[in-house]
Amino acid sequence: MCGIVCAVSDRPVLPLLIEGLKQLEYRGYDSAGVALLDQGKLERIRSVGRIAQLEAALGPVKDSPASVGIAHTRWATHGAPTQNNAHPHLTPGKLAIVHNGIIENHLPLREELQQAGYIFESETDTEVILHAVDREYQQSGDLYRAVAATVKRLKGAYAIGLMCTDEPRRIVGARSGSPMVVGIAENSGYIASDMAALLSVTQNFYIIED
Ligand code: GLU
Repeated sequence: MCGIVCAVSDRPVLPLLIEGLKQLEYRGYDSAGVALLDQGKLERIRSVGRIAQLEAALGPVKDSPASVGIAHTRWATHGAPTQNNAHPHLTPGKLAIVHNGIIENHLPLREELQQAGYIFESETDTEVILHAVDREYQQSGDLYRAVAATVKRLKGAYAIGLMCTDEPRRIVGARSGSPMVVGIAENSGYIASDMAALLSVTQNFYIIED
């Protein structure tokens, strides 16, 4: 088990993402990370260990004005708990993903994507989802449609959150077998593993079905 927190807002989201991760610490984790989208660029910070170590690694990013971001605490299932395997995972300059759960058919999907030319940077099952979404995105140019097409091919458990530099005011999430809530506030939308992560910003929740 681990946690995800994603936010699109009209104010800087990093403080909320970090606070949200802290509220999910009870779920257990071995590493943590955050990706922010600001002015068309993705910025990612990841760290093995506690959220305090992630905070220490933020450096100047601590003051980022980014109003869109996704964050993760990882409980490693596929690949060791290293910085390289920590989420978010990114495609160069385009997509970012966080994932809670296990993709059971990751091996055949990985082989298929490698044959299509995708290069994997981590040992995670999560990176399979990332590249599968990328392939769909190249067809549709729409993050929602790309994620919807990809999840039809996934077997296993997932709660995922994604963002894309081409659609900077959008976060797309999906779940099956792993918990996820959607929170809404004025000019803001959120996804998290648990309402506790978002109580500081909203009490307006949708519980998402598989
Ligand atoms: N299976 C993914 C991984 O090993 C996600 C694990 C989790 O739920 O934190 O990276």
